[in-house]
Amino acid sequence: MSNQIVKVALPVPLRQCFDYLSHGRISIGTRVKVPFGKQKKVGIVLGYGSELSADALRPVEEQLDQTPLLSPAMLALLTWCADYYQAPIGEQIFTALPKKIRTGASIQPDTEIVWEIGSNWPKDPLTQLKRAPKQAGLVEQLLAADGRLAEKEITSLSSYKGALRSLQEKKWISKTLVEAKATPLIPDTDPSPPLLLNSQQSHAYKTIKHQLDRFCCYLLNGVTGSGKTEVYLQLIQDVLNHGKSALVLVPEIGLTPQTVERFSRRFRVPIKLYHSGMSDSARFQSWMTAQQPHPAVFIGTRSAVFLPIEHLGIVIIDEEHDGSFKQQEGVRYHARDVAIKRAASEKIPIVLGSATPSIESLFNAEQGRYQLLRLTHRVTGVTPPVVELIDLRRQSTRDILSQPLLHALKETLARGEQSLLFLNRRGFSPVTMCQQCGWMAHCARCDAKLTFHAQYKQWQCHHCGAVQNALAECPACHSVALKPIGTGTEKVETILQEIFPHHPAVRIDRDSTRKRGALSDLLTQAYSGEAKLLVGTQMLAKGHHLPNLSLVGILNTDEGLFSADLRAAEHTAQLILQVAGRAGREQLKGRVLLQTYHPDHPLLLDLQQNNYDNFIQRTLEERRLAVLPPYSALCLLRAEANRLTLVKQFLQDSKNLAQRPPADIELFGPVPAGMERKAGKYRWQLLVQGQKRKSLNLFLKGWISELSKLHSARRVRWSVDVDPISLL
Ligand code: ADP
Ligand code: ZN
Ligand code: ZN
Repeated sequence: MSNQIVKVALPVPLRQCFDYLSHGRISIGTRVKVPFGKQKKVGIVLGYGSELSADALRPVEEQLDQTPLLSPAMLALLTWCADYYQAPIGEQIFTALPKKIRTGASIQPDTEIVWEIGSNWPKDPLTQLKRAPKQAGLVEQLLAADGRLAEKEITSLSSYKGALRSLQEKKWISKTLVEAKATPLIPDTDPSPPLLLNSQQSHAYKTIKHQLDRFCCYLLNGVTGSGKTEVYLQLIQDVLNHGKSALVLVPEIGLTPQTVERFSRRFRVPIKLYHSGMSDSARFQSWMTAQQPHPAVFIGTRSAVFLPIEHLGIVIIDEEHDGSFKQQEGVRYHARDVAIKRAASEKIPIVLGSATPSIESLFNAEQGRYQLLRLTHRVTGVTPPVVELIDLRRQSTRDILSQPLLHALKETLARGEQSLLFLNRRGFSPVTMCQQCGWMAHCARCDAKLTFHAQYKQWQCHHCGAVQNALAECPACHSVALKPIGTGTEKVETILQEIFPHHPAVRIDRDSTRKRGALSDLLTQAYSGEAKLLVGTQMLAKGHHLPNLSLVGILNTDEGLFSADLRAAEHTAQLILQVAGRAGREQLKGRVLLQTYHPDHPLLLDLQQNNYDNFIQRTLEERRLAVLPPYSALCLLRAEANRLTLVKQFLQDSKNLAQRPPADIELFGPVPAGMERKAGKYRWQLLVQGQKRKSLNLFLKGWISELSKLHSARRVRWSVDVDPISLL
């Protein structure tokens, strides 16, 4: 067979493929193991090269797959991503793969051990084994299974290991390897029937259903409890009926057991999950299922957008506005935007659902790029919760809890109903200060203060994860006047217990749910209504349906109102409405109390009147005047290094490289990032602004490839962060 040159994408931060020599033809999309410097790396064949320079090339060491792992369509999507997000192609592809595949694991089906009756099997095995109870026990299990028993089905296998060996040595039994059967995932119970849709739901459903065979992006804007999920479910059923699969993307914390259960009760096809909380092999299993041609439903967080689903029929993005769809490190893609691109290439519909759509999606709908479908009221007919502002300037508070809020809590408890206090700050208090000398506990590696966690008696940095035991004595003046200042969820829980000693408070945040099973225990208490007082971070804000909840208190409304971040106000509004949407979902009337020092803030007034649209229109107008997205396109070049001078110099050099950018492109900076020092690294950035996404991308392409050459010379880590707006 003749030699061939293959172009291989490798997981390295270089914007190129690497050439290797192969004996015989290796298909595109196949994994190979190749030498790279002194290492061996797994890579993916992306194409073929010319024979000219073959002499200098090193050979492919091993071909890992017999058939391509990635289809031409998936490779095209990933190549598009690398181009759009200005990412190195190898890194882009490898981000999309589960770990077992990245590290070269075989994609051959898993095998399992089966024990069978062997050549020496005696006529009366049990009588011969009177003195060997273990072997007799095994023989009984084997006979009960008609002489053929999978090893994993042997009850208390570990105690039978010796007996297995003895029987095998006597050739009474023998071992074979067979292909492992996928565990049946299809529920035995009858599926739950679809609900009769109301007129708004029915309009949305029919509009999409009539165009299942072509690409269109729908923005399903429906208030919490308006029955969006029911619309998804019925659309998915239609897609499954056509023999195709569905992909449902949900926010990181929206993947609740309730959501999954609702999907698995409805369909008689495998429901496969894909998220970071799963084990490597479970992720691998889901990935492999995706390659099967059978219809299935895949539910996952952002990385599930890269599942190589064979016959995809629809994509659903629930809570499309959620920040967790944006990958914030490595290749900084936005799963919603990638999904839209994917749906467009596969000519299938995509549904973006939200009670509070992102500004860019509403803008795209306004521009006619998306089709807007609205569900304006709750299915149950329950009126939306009443939103009230509590003016903290005129209130005495018990720590963070104002008198009107405490009063409302008492009333709600008296009625036997549930209350939820929302605070986006975990731990006991965010600051510890010495009252003698003013010293404060800072992280040594970040520009950040340490949070006091009373439960662990620790100071923790919420930015780099550093942990130390809390000191009793001030390290500066040695007085014992250290005082926790400010309030986190842990402290709120403590205060509630003091005020309402007869009502256990349940706190749900990353700390209280760290242990396996802890979250579902706490949620059970919350769902059943047994826990009347709930305190939580945004873990409690999404996807949970708490029938007995009637009061929601938002403790630190003001955070995020005055941030420099372009999207801070938008995210604040979305989060508040999301939390508020928890209140009064069934028979109970909901009440939402927002504590604020700025009761005249236009954002809060909009929220109080339940007028998200007004907020959006106002914000869009501000953005238009300031020429900010979606009226322009932005990109950040981020850099970090151990030394400040290195970062600044790198960004200055990068800026100099773009001496004469096109007329509609402007570069601003370098400026320090929001948190200049994090985990010991200095972080600075350059802002690049263009009038149009297309021309910005064109400029970036040339500039970034020039810039990659600078990279190798310096110890600076850098990445490109493309602001998500729209693709179409
Ligand atoms: P959303 O996803 O918009 O929050 P859901 O689909 O979860 O709304 O619906 C809220 C509640 O209303 C759920 O308990 C759901 O079972 C119920 N529901 C949805 N649609 C209907 C319908 N057409 N008839 C009766 N109940 C419905
Ligand atoms: Zn001190
Ligand atoms: Zn830190």
